[in-house]
Amino acid sequence: MYGLYNKLLCTKESEVLITGECFCGKVSYQVDGRLRDARSCHCSRCRKAFSSQASAYALVESSEFSWLSGEELLTSYVGSHGFGLRFCSKCGSTLCGIFNGVIHGVTLGCVNGDPEIEIGMHIFVGSKAAWEVLPDGMTQYHEQGPNNA
Ligand SMILES: [Zn+2]
Ligand SMILES: [Zn+2]
Repeated sequence: MYGLYNKLLCTKESEVLITGECFCGKVSYQVDGRLRDARSCHCSRCRKAFSSQASAYALVESSEFSWLSGEELLTSYVGSHGFGLRFCSKCGSTLCGIFNGVIHGVTLGCVNGDPEIEIGMHIFVGSKAAWEVLPDGMTQYHEQGPNNA
């Protein structure tokens, strides 16, 4: 506990301790670093994976990510290319993406507060759902963006 207190006091202004949790609150994590390359993908697969009009996802450094609670409640779905998602078996929130078993990124919807990052690009808008109305002014790509991470 002292360690956490000390850490909060000594955190530089440029650093944010990012936390996230699922809908039921049983599963939570922290990222001791920054999120990168926030993006929203509108392809049909991401729509189903995120149960939404698009994904909202940012990359993390796996060494900076740790589970705080509820890791035993996580279940995973891994697709054919080694990329998968981990979600809470109680409430169904999708918390993170994994690649070959290693944490790859987090879903922005489960991040608490302001992680000091904005979605920088909307990709695969060429295959968006017919019912989605795209707002003006967003950075969009018909297929994948310039940074295929
Ligand atoms: Zn949950
Ligand atoms: Zn996609």
